[in-house]
Amino acid sequence: MDYRQSTAGIKSTPMMQSTGQCEPESPLPKLLVSACLLGNPVRYDGKSKDLNHLGLQQLLEQGQAIPFCPEVAGGLPVPRPPAECVSGDGSAVIAGSARVLTRDGEDLTANFLAGAEQALKLCRDKQIRVAVLTETSPSCGSTQIYDGSFSRRPVAASGVTTALLRQHGIVVFSQHQLEQALNYLAFCRQTTSQTATRSVRENCN
Ligand code: SF4
Repeated sequence: MDYRQSTAGIKSTPMMQSTGQCEPESPLPKLLVSACLLGNPVRYDGKSKDLNHLGLQQLLEQGQAIPFCPEVAGGLPVPRPPAECVSGDGSAVIAGSARVLTRDGEDLTANFLAGAEQALKLCRDKQIRVAVLTETSPSCGSTQIYDGSFSRRPVAASGVTTALLRQHGIVVFSQHQLEQALNYLAFCRQTTSQTATRSVRENCN
């Protein structure tokens, strides 16, 4: 991945702090993480998918990793029946040409869309530019989801939340790409910090 291209849209705003000194405002980009990857038992089966990753735990303790479950945020209970994107992927669900259904045909599309919208709002509110989301989930899958036949057959596609975040410039990795994601986050933070410092120097000269 070309990190320089991917961070083209990153902006930061210098400001005069109340001390009267010129200091950079540095809202460093944070990391959105599927809540189940951080040990929260929010999956459809009532379990988690805890990565037990030291670096991730440290980011969580520092308030730099933000856990989020779009399906719970969208109003679904734990546990809940498994669901899959049917007749298309997450982008198609957003476009209205596919649905999210349970095996029994219950239509959960509205819940999945609501959860995705809340994930996007959280990213905007908290300066999140990067996400690590759970692979094959109909919400969080980023390179694979199941094909809608409820036979656990994966296809190359993304879930509803991942698709919406990507449509708005958030870079999404799966948990299998965690080191890549952390490197990318560090790159974003360095770029943001340098840009803020440069802007402040220019404004203060
Ligand atoms: S919606 Fe995402 S965060 Fe929630 S349980 Fe499923 S994979 Fe984990």
